[in-house]
Amino acid sequence: MAAGATILNPELLPGDGSFTLLGDGATDEIEMILAISARQPGNNFAVVAHTSQEYLESVGFAADGVTLVVAETGAPVGEAFRTPLLTVWRTLYVERDIMADPDLTQEPGPSRIPAGAITAKADLTMTIGVEIDEPGGTDQFSGGTIALYQGETLLNTDTVVFNTTGPGSRIVVRYPVPALADAFRDLVDDDVAHAVTAADIIPDLSLMASRFLPACVRVDTAKNDLSSNSSESVDDAAVAFKLNVGTLGTNENQTTEKDDLVKANKQAPSSPDFWVAYVLGAFQGRVDKDADPDREDWILGFGGRGSSSGPFALLYRESVRDVVVAPGSGVTTSEADLWRLVAVHEVAHEFGLLDKDKGDDGPLMNNVAVLTADTPAEVEALQFNGVGLRKIVAAELYGRN
Ligand SMILES: [Zn+2]
Repeated sequence: MAAGATILNPELLPGDGSFTLLGDGATDEIEMILAISARQPGNNFAVVAHTSQEYLESVGFAADGVTLVVAETGAPVGEAFRTPLLTVWRTLYVERDIMADPDLTQEPGPSRIPAGAITAKADLTMTIGVEIDEPGGTDQFSGGTIALYQGETLLNTDTVVFNTTGPGSRIVVRYPVPALADAFRDLVDDDVAHAVTAADIIPDLSLMASRFLPACVRVDTAKNDLSSNSSESVDDAAVAFKLNVGTLGTNENQTTEKDDLVKANKQAPSSPDFWVAYVLGAFQGRVDKDADPDREDWILGFGGRGSSSGPFALLYRESVRDVVVAPGSGVTTSEADLWRLVAVHEVAHEFGLLDKDKGDDGPLMNNVAVLTADTPAEVEALQFNGVGLRKIVAAELYGRN
């Protein structure tokens, strides 16, 4: 008695994907072991077994691309001769790290200068004894406040109209600087009023599961002991705080700082059995793109394949708050929605999906749509399209490397 089996889509068995047929030839019961080594989500497998080699060779797909039929007759392959459809699913875990409580006085581009001297004044302008750094410092404090003192005595608190940088940095305020003012305290930009805490910086991964589900990827954000050599949690709750990831305002500097940050904190590698996305809740991106002052450029997050650090996503909490509350920013998405949309958008970049100006991977990668999703229906409509989903199912997502 002949026994045989056909792999209907052998091209989907890459690497050492193997197929073994065991049969003693004496009965028509056979046992098969199908091993799929490159388990890309969304792949479908079905095995047909029959005693007739001729029958096996005649099996193919119907025009619908799904139903298994005998070619000559078009009759469906009987259930006795085939397995159910096996669909490959992939689990995506998330290593979720969080920066510690903000230190807004951190150099070189602090959001709060605690105190300093006033060395000269003329009407609305004062020169201060503290140098405000470029880049990113020009007009950084516009819209913020400054408290003016004579010695230990508070004279008034004024609104900053603009500031210059470098030696002899000047502050222009709304009202004439009091003649007796000789010192200042708490020169602050709007980051202080926004009062972002470490608790706010925790990434919100609540949209991950629904957005990745159509790619046959199951997202599990609860498990956090992903290290291959330890059962300890890989989620770090107090990554050293950085006021800006990218303190020199250049792409090179930003890239180096991002990579160093990720290399120092990312622990969990992906494996053949599951994927791990790395997500770090951070404060602001490069100093000249942190929405201080409000009219400055901004970046709400960064996600990518990484260079020496492997794939990662950084989410910039203060910048998200800044653009939601800043007048005239054009952002109408709520802060809570934007924070969770940025998370899933940046993780998608880890899979190689592109922004709308570079590709077409679905509304979730369209920044204009993400920034103006101000109804539940519009948030729900922010999904990956077929092109984007195909990039996910075809991904190799490495962890630490
Ligand atoms: Zn993007």
